[in-house]
Amino acid sequence: MEYNGEIIRQLLLDWYRAGHRDLPWRGTRNPYFVWLSEIMLQQTRVEAVKGYYDRFLKEVPDIQALSEISEDRLLKLWEGLGYYNRARNLKKAACRIMEKYRGKFPAAYEDVIKLPGIGEYTAGAICSICYDQPTPAVDGNVLRVYMRLVNSEDNIDEAGIKKKVRENLLPLYEHGCCGELTQALMELGAVVCIPNGEPKCGQCPLRKVCLACQEHTWDKVPVRREKKKRRIEEKTVFVLHDGGSYGIRRRDVSGLLPGMWEFFHTEGKLSVQEAMQLASDKGFGPIQLEKEIPYTHVFSHVEWRMTAYYIACRNKTDELIWAEREALEKEYALPSAFKIFLDKEL
Ligand code: SF4
Repeated sequence: MEYNGEIIRQLLLDWYRAGHRDLPWRGTRNPYFVWLSEIMLQQTRVEAVKGYYDRFLKEVPDIQALSEISEDRLLKLWEGLGYYNRARNLKKAACRIMEKYRGKFPAAYEDVIKLPGIGEYTAGAICSICYDQPTPAVDGNVLRVYMRLVNSEDNIDEAGIKKKVRENLLPLYEHGCCGELTQALMELGAVVCIPNGEPKCGQCPLRKVCLACQEHTWDKVPVRREKKKRRIEEKTVFVLHDGGSYGIRRRDVSGLLPGMWEFFHTEGKLSVQEAMQLASDKGFGPIQLEKEIPYTHVFSHVEWRMTAYYIACRNKTDELIWAEREALEKEYALPSAFKIFLDKEL
């Protein structure tokens, strides 16, 4: 069957209206809620986001509260979600909305897309869901659905492909159902035309019009450039404590995990003797090595292969901040790559 916007729209809407996942951010047209959920969902699984979303909104219920939150508290609320610049940009955007739009989220796509941290996908999602505008939101899920639908051989890593898909999806958008359509496409990509493994074509509302389904090409579409291999970095982490508090320091404000907290660490893998020697040279006064834990943390482009040495120390040097466990859990934002060692301490 030929690509027919009207038929596809109706199939998607009927399917979506017949039932979909009940997610905390579904059913709202409050742009702050939709914006927050979309930012949290970038690179992060829905299941992981649910708890964060509820906790965040309890403490930061609106744009004004977001504009006023301290960076430390913001990062603490975001702790474990990763990609921390997303949180910083949220606050920057909230400040801009307070200044420029008197705290009211802008409705025009051209204004929304100028806010820090908001790209075409997020602007499209907010404007279609909250303001019923014909602004298709094309992320990886929607791209996959569309490429399979038309059995495209285009490489989805090429520049301009999302723009092309947005243009091709535009005829599907009709006032009165823009938000539902955006969500139907997202939902289909997340639960039926899934990213890993065989799509569930038998349950798909588009199966009769989908060319990849008819031509059995789902495993070749979408076409992707070969992924670059992740860089491997070895690190030796020192979980230093004096029986009550732990030594931590703040990361640089640029680079990976900017401004977050971390345990003291050094590049490369040190032996136990080398690690104890370094702890002594640094003036920590190491008393004894208590345990050694290897852990690999995978970021999108780099993999940290870490060896953590838990060392009881007698000196609280000024090079580190010494914080009790409770303070570490409540106040300091430790990214998952380091927090894991605190969890393993239990
Ligand atoms: Fe994806 Fe299959 Fe649906 Fe086509 S029919 S969009 S391949 S799930």
